[in-house]
Amino acid sequence: MGWLREWKRKRVLKHHAIDDMLWQRSRKYLPFLKGLSPAQERRLREMAVIFLAEKEFTPVRGLQLSDQDRVEIALQACLPILELGLSWYDGWVGVVVHPSDFKVSRRQTDHDGVVHEWQDELAGESWPGGPVVLSWEALDDSGSVPEGGANVVIHEFAHKIDMLTGEADGVPPLPSREARERWLKVFDAEFDRFCTQVEKGRDTFLDPYASEDEAEFFAVASEAFFESPNALRGEYPRLYELFKGFYRQDPAQRLKS
Ligand SMILES: [Zn+2]
Repeated sequence: MGWLREWKRKRVLKHHAIDDMLWQRSRKYLPFLKGLSPAQERRLREMAVIFLAEKEFTPVRGLQLSDQDRVEIALQACLPILELGLSWYDGWVGVVVHPSDFKVSRRQTDHDGVVHEWQDELAGESWPGGPVVLSWEALDDSGSVPEGGANVVIHEFAHKIDMLTGEADGVPPLPSREARERWLKVFDAEFDRFCTQVEKGRDTFLDPYASEDEAEFFAVASEAFFESPNALRGEYPRLYELFKGFYRQDPAQRLKS
């Protein structure tokens, strides 16, 4: 089926493109797109076009999405996989966008058989094999502030990348056992260091929410890697290098000025 998909993608690219005006406007709102080489920029634009053709956007509760809105979501979603390839987002199609943060019901049975039920208010959510759910309000907040560090789209898509190995656990697919061992060593040490800082009540560069578990640490640090790479490199140099190797990108270099 590979050839069929390639053929369809070529057709999509033949008939659709992100025009220069839309790209320039997106770049203005998404300052972390600066510094890409012309080849990377071309690839990101093409990936976003295919992403828009293959994924199904569902705005809910009366929300309307303009072309610009969709393009901006697609560009942010594709940036992390720019050097990895669109196949990293295979196996699911839905992108659900709520107008604002949304409530989800949770239910868990503890060791004593007691059922706990509660509601969480979320800015985003993603499921293995299921859709990515985003809050437009949260999305509007992210990306617009240079070096702001928060980005709900990158956060949720980082979860998707993490989930490719099964459960979200902060360990994305890695090319070898050695690479996995190296990842666990550096990532776990940086996660422990971060959790200690949070426990001690210190001010942390990353949102303290990232201490929830390894999956959240991976997603929050991925946001910072693309949005505020220089700050991440300053605070967590070993983590930065690890991510640089994994994502095959060096955002601190391209956003240096
Ligand atoms: Zn998360």
